[in-house]
Amino acid sequence: MGRDGQMDVTLVGVVGAGQMGNGIAHIFALAGYDVLLNDISQESLDKALDVIGRNLDRQVSRGKITPEARMEALGRIRTTPNLAELGQTDLVIEAATERETVKQAIFQELQPHLKPTTILTSNTSSISITRLASRTDRPERFMGFHFMNPVPVMQLVELIRGIATNEETYQTLLAVVQKLGKTAATAEDFPAFIVNRILMPMINEAVYTLYEGVGSVQSIDESLKLGANHPMGPLELADFIGLDTCLAIMNVLHDGLADTKYRPCPLLTKYVEAGWLGRKTQRGFYDYRGERPVPTR
Ligand code: NAD
Repeated sequence: MGRDGQMDVTLVGVVGAGQMGNGIAHIFALAGYDVLLNDISQESLDKALDVIGRNLDRQVSRGKITPEARMEALGRIRTTPNLAELGQTDLVIEAATERETVKQAIFQELQPHLKPTTILTSNTSSISITRLASRTDRPERFMGFHFMNPVPVMQLVELIRGIATNEETYQTLLAVVQKLGKTAATAEDFPAFIVNRILMPMINEAVYTLYEGVGSVQSIDESLKLGANHPMGPLELADFIGLDTCLAIMNVLHDGLADTKYRPCPLLTKYVEAGWLGRKTQRGFYDYRGERPVPTR
């Protein structure tokens, strides 16, 4: 036990080495934590290490970190395809695929190997923290730990307490966020928490505005950039996040709050059905296959 009712955290386990998991491993290692990164195959772990190395390189070339800090951070990250090895960690951050059965299975498999004091967290964007926690052996030591994408760049971290989360767990995570040099916003455990509760209906409304012919892709994005001082237009931002992710979060809001104001725009569904998911598939509200993004409507 550390000061002020917080636990000491030195070894951190990260489950899932996709775009969020590798960013989380990156910032924890830079902040001086030892990190054990897990994914289902050694191949995805090697790929994640490669991405982390390149992202650290970029920070060095921009003068944000020193070459020594880069080397030290890389030296603090170990990888393992064997989940049981995360048993010795003080804190586990689950950042695997956004499917409840996948996350549940991970916590079930981890549980017998964990120290009694290990804190479990999930980076989920939409799944109930209380429900995930209730299916583990430690709902009081379970929290939502929601990082934003891209993790090394974005300042905010949402901390979500489940109904059973105890104060020590909350204070421990607050201190961790501080050590990471980020800022915490505390949210209650309701669908989509704070950022996505507000952001996604705005994006969905932008898609309705397009669907109803009020504006074109270009005029909608220009309007919000120049008229509301947003750094990115809502449709451009939707492409960046992934249209499948936007749709999934709207469905969570719609189902979880049972209010028609959250109904996903049929045009958003249509883009997802087409496999036009945004930047990651090179096409969404913009086509990214050429030199410059071209609006698709
Ligand atoms: P991703 O698809 O890039 O990565 C998921 C990784 O999990 C993959 O590498 C996959 O191999 C791995 N995985 C799947 N099953 C596993 C298992 N049983 N054990 C270990 N690893 C497993 O997804 P992502 O975008 O990094 O999202 C991860 C989590 O972060 C999700 O819960 C998502 O909701 C959340 N999140 C995503 C964003 C975003 O903008 N992408 C933002 C905030 C939170």
